[in-house]
Amino acid sequence: VEKDPVTVIGLGPMGQAMARAFLKAGHPTTVWNRTASRADAVVAEGAVRARSAAEALAAGRLVVLSLTDYDAMYAILGEVGDALRGRVVVNLSSDTPGRAREATAWFAGHGAEHLAGGIMVPAELVATESSYVFYSGPKAEFDRYEPVLRVLGRPDFRGTDPALGQAFYQAQLHVFLTSLAAYLESVALLGAVGVTAETFQPYVKDLFDTMSYYLPGATKHLDNGDHPGDAANVTMMGATADHIVGAAVEAGIDGRLPAAVKALYDSAIADGRGKESWTSLVEVIRKPA
Ligand code: NDP
Repeated sequence: VEKDPVTVIGLGPMGQAMARAFLKAGHPTTVWNRTASRADAVVAEGAVRARSAAEALAAGRLVVLSLTDYDAMYAILGEVGDALRGRVVVNLSSDTPGRAREATAWFAGHGAEHLAGGIMVPAELVATESSYVFYSGPKAEFDRYEPVLRVLGRPDFRGTDPALGQAFYQAQLHVFLTSLAAYLESVALLGAVGVTAETFQPYVKDLFDTMSYYLPGATKHLDNGDHPGDAANVTMMGATADHIVGAAVEAGIDGRLPAAVKALYDSAIADGRGKESWTSLVEVIRKPA
């Protein structure tokens, strides 16, 4: 059987990995990138080089975008005239949920459907077991192209609201980025007392491995909106947050990250939540002063 043709626009490390995955799966793949030389490698592997973005769009109905952000997308697609008409644009560029909604309206104005989402692995893991991708938007188009999108990694459709794919993407990346930054802060803290990252590794690994143990209990209370403070309460955790700030000051390292965490605890205590569980910080986060 003939496989669906795919157009990939944006050939950074991620777009190249995606084009390569489509080629490997036997999809006729057309590519375009602002800096033409970034297409050379995938063209050598069998992709068709389009001379313009409009020509790339003409190659087929399914178009995958892998761009830095939505501004890059408008910069490219704002110039293509009528070439978007009838296309299904699978936009795996990162931006905010609100911009994903806005873009859906923009695409509708150009006669195109918009499936907005984000891929959750680095380029070298595209099309492997660990790869998964969030999508949101028109369900019928998702279903139509699900077998093609599966090539990139497990497709996870979050709903028809186009904001959902980006919301899940940013939510996951927030936990990821902030956890990694906290890890680096701790490496620096230990470095100040002569401990290497290597010595620290088994301890932090154990911590990462056991973090998920706290989730079921926290989830129940977060969704119920109650925060019984029978285990780790805000006052106790807030005192620890204060000590981490003190340790950063003593070590002479950047203390902005622990200070931000301490500020959340301070606000919760000021709100009279000292005896509640640490989960009540979410109320401070939901209603910033
Ligand atoms: P790059 O920043 O390397 O590539 C971005 C692409 O956007 C390039 O094709 C670039 O073109 C293009 N671009 C940027 N600005 C413009 C513009 N103004 N006009 C035209 N084209 C523009 O990113 P990646 O490939 O790493 O990532 C692509 C997307 O995938 C991003 O949204 C990223 O967040 C996401 N992602 C990336 C991961 C990774 O590990 N790399 C992991 C998960 C998601 P040019 O080559 O001409 O500069």
